[in-house]
Amino acid sequence: MGYIVEAETQTPVSCEVDVVVLGGGAGGASAAIAAARNGADVLVVERANCLGGTTTGGLMTRMDVSHAIWGRIPHEKRVVQGIYLEIIERCKKLGGFIEEYEVKKWLAGMLSGVECFDPQILKFVLQEMAEEEDIRLLYHTLAVDAVVEDRELKAVIIENKSGRQAVRGRVFIDATGDGDVAVKAGAKYEVGRESDGMLQPVTMTFRIGGVDVEKVFKTYGRKQKIYRERVPHNAHPYLREVEEAKREGVYSFPTGRFWFHLTPVKGVVYVNTTRIHGIDPAKAEDTTRAEVEGLRQVMQLMNFVRKYMKGFENSYLVDVGSYIGVRESRRITGEYILTRDDVLHARKFPDAIAAGSARIDIHDVKGAWSELVAPPEGEYYQIPYRSILVKGLENVLAVGRCISTTHDAQGATRMVPTTIAVAQGAGTASALSLKSGKPLRDIDVAELQDILIRQGGFIGSRT
Ligand SMILES: Cc1cc2nc3c(=O)[nH]c(=O)nc-3n(C[C@H](O)[C@H](O)[C@H](O)COP(=O)(O)OP(=O)(O)OC[C@H]3O[C@@H](n4cnc5c(N)ncnc54)[C@H](O)[C@@H]3O)c2cc1C
Repeated sequence: MGYIVEAETQTPVSCEVDVVVLGGGAGGASAAIAAARNGADVLVVERANCLGGTTTGGLMTRMDVSHAIWGRIPHEKRVVQGIYLEIIERCKKLGGFIEEYEVKKWLAGMLSGVECFDPQILKFVLQEMAEEEDIRLLYHTLAVDAVVEDRELKAVIIENKSGRQAVRGRVFIDATGDGDVAVKAGAKYEVGRESDGMLQPVTMTFRIGGVDVEKVFKTYGRKQKIYRERVPHNAHPYLREVEEAKREGVYSFPTGRFWFHLTPVKGVVYVNTTRIHGIDPAKAEDTTRAEVEGLRQVMQLMNFVRKYMKGFENSYLVDVGSYIGVRESRRITGEYILTRDDVLHARKFPDAIAAGSARIDIHDVKGAWSELVAPPEGEYYQIPYRSILVKGLENVLAVGRCISTTHDAQGATRMVPTTIAVAQGAGTASALSLKSGKPLRDIDVAELQDILIRQGGFIGSRT
């Protein structure tokens, strides 16, 4: 269809700060909070209308294990602490959090090792934490381009209702999930599986209200235990219902299981069952298609639960994610690429900025199968500072699901607690770089680690 030539234009600089965080998801919000707490003037540019990204607007309310040993364990034994623990405490006070043991006790689905937030409370808590640190928030704004000189990102071009503008910063943190800004600035990246570039499916999550949880538990609780003990994790206690619905043409999802669990709101459950394959989240045509199909699947699942699932007879749709949930897209190449072996062998690094114990959780790029493998029980791996240092750019860090890993390792680092821990490292590093006058690559990592620990973070052993 050819090209059009746009007129040359002067772009006004609308803001100049120390640290510009692009994207305000769990990663971006935490990086911003950490940077501001360590003295930086911070701006968050966010395309949506709140902080939290996938965890709030995307309604993804469950967080994977943030500790090595599953069960009811004290905070000080968690693998992820720091800002994540603070978020938990604040959400708990507002009635927006349920502990892992609670989820497990009532769990009628087949999940374990998770704790759950209320997305609206989480949204407020993140906003409150940002406001306390005087972080400037700019919602409804897309970062669209980058101005680079000599390996240094000078400004990011943004667009919103007020038009096209530039924001200047000294350090930039790409927390867009897709690495949008790092890529515009020329960073190298990988997409999907190393063998063929295929990506995990995307999911439209939603919540169902009016669920008789007691009845659900009574009907499926015992089966759940049997399934846990005897069958591979891809089976589940509702197999008979799903099979019946399939035969009757009511259930036509790639995933053969109906996956849900409790939320902090009585009688409301969260559902993570829809799957749309073959989507490239960096393409608007693809995400549009995914959202149209996702909503269709949500309505089909509502039919399914009302007709086939015990305890759901009088249930109703509460809400659907404001946008499709993305598990993976681009991974920005850093100075170190974290691997599957690093995760599964609980590898330690001298420049660790965070520790994680979340499992590698990969949903099949084509079908229903999914892989769930963990490091040895009671163990944790570390995430090195080098895996957020963007190769080829001096003043850019990447956080969140687009950090430098292989496809497999990303299946673990994408989990929310780990994302938050790494982002706390990034925000703290950016402030330290500015305070010490040293480029990001030259900061004293031992000092960074000291600060993280002093500020409540857990990074694990130091070598
Ligand atoms: C269906 C699903 C189930 C999951 N299950 C679990 C689970 O059980 N446990 C768990 O711990 N984790 C789970 N995850 C993973 C986890 O939710 C995500 O990996 C994590 O929330 C990613 O955080 P993020 O900040 O990196 O990215 P995001 O949450 O995607 O945030 C990126 C933010 O950047 C904004 N943005 C994007 N592009 C731009 C731009 N160009 N300009 C400005 N803003 C931009 C977006 O609006 C968004 O707010 C799941 C994810 C999905 C999708």
